[in-house]
Amino acid sequence: MQLPSDGDQSGRTLGPEEVARLAAVIERGTLNSTRGVEVDEFERGFADWLGTGHAVACASGSAAVHVCIQTLGLRAGDEIITTPITDMGALTPILYEGGIPVFADVDPKTLNVTAETVAAQLTARTKAIIVTHLFGLPCEFDAILALAKEHDLPIIEDCAQAYGATWRGQKVGTFGTLAAFSLQQGKHITTGEGGIATTNDPILARRLFLAVNKAWGYGDAKPDHYFPALNYRLSELQGAVANAQLPKLNDVIAKRRAVAAALREQLTDVAGLDLPGDTEHATHTWWKFAFGVDADVIDGGAVELGGRMRAAGVACAPRYVQKPAFECELFQDWSKSSVTAMPLAHSPRRDGPMPPFSRADYPGAVAGLERVVVLPINERYTDAHIAHVASVIRESVGALARA
Ligand SMILES: *Cc1c(COP(=O)(O)O)cnc(C)c1O
Repeated sequence: MQLPSDGDQSGRTLGPEEVARLAAVIERGTLNSTRGVEVDEFERGFADWLGTGHAVACASGSAAVHVCIQTLGLRAGDEIITTPITDMGALTPILYEGGIPVFADVDPKTLNVTAETVAAQLTARTKAIIVTHLFGLPCEFDAILALAKEHDLPIIEDCAQAYGATWRGQKVGTFGTLAAFSLQQGKHITTGEGGIATTNDPILARRLFLAVNKAWGYGDAKPDHYFPALNYRLSELQGAVANAQLPKLNDVIAKRRAVAAALREQLTDVAGLDLPGDTEHATHTWWKFAFGVDADVIDGGAVELGGRMRAAGVACAPRYVQKPAFECELFQDWSKSSVTAMPLAHSPRRDGPMPPFSRADYPGAVAGLERVVVLPINERYTDAHIAHVASVIRESVGALARA
């Protein structure tokens, strides 16, 4: 059975609304956002949808993270605590601003950072915390918020995978000082590539705007280029698609929640699986359905089970990103690129172990990756798709069940 894929029309909520908006932009002939109207409208609409004061659209989720970091005004060697289980686009911007990403371990069950793991990485040089709500499940936020408050540290929420997810009934992206979302092909809503950064603080909102616009002071009495920044603008064409996507977002979220609930329902009695879901205070909005596999019950664990699922035609990613981010090549020899060498040269960590982060200190991340199978689901799954995926999982588990 062919399953709907977020890589094409089958698994995306794209239709005549997007086509009509796009056609109108092309007919107007203004394809950039500085002279257009679509991106402004999307920014206002998105801020309203989120329930925050300001939103600034940009070229990608990575750009959104980058501009959030730019508002912090880092000094060389400053540290930002983040997670080793995330998209690289959320990490390299720290280095480009002269900062050092300092990795907090994660809860092996959710692969999210916790207050304890973040606290363990605090130093005098910590300037911010980036919290990623992985797969669409909010991190356990109360203690993290309390920790940030106690140490007077801003939180940047990476909500690329967690549109509309809530903590105690309030949307993620509204708790931190800043938040970043991605509009890349595989996210809840998409413009192919794109992103949006949000904040409730008007001064930071102005800095976000500048960071997307080469820091040129549009509208100021004596404009200048105030700080180093790139052209990170979303185009008018992408803005048009975004405006057609945004009204569909709540429905996309509701449908993903229904798909996940049905899948859970059909798998609850399968021994050896640890199924994801809402937690006491958090609602999950299902970028992916990431479940744990108990290798004591299912022979070969996540890798074997994922392999069997794939052989049966159900795409999935055992071990998700395969390795913690600090094991990627760019974090091995920090002298190889000025982007890594520069911040390190300004940090006492230069005299410490090299590479600065190693697997032995991250038992949660290692165990979490070992046990996880990331199953793509999307809003276009029908009951038949769900039943098919559930039966493939059930049969694959059956074939591997230890006696
Ligand atoms: C997708 C993603 C990003 C980066 O977004 P791009 O649009 O691909 O640059 C950042 N963080 C997380 C958690 C993501 O899932």
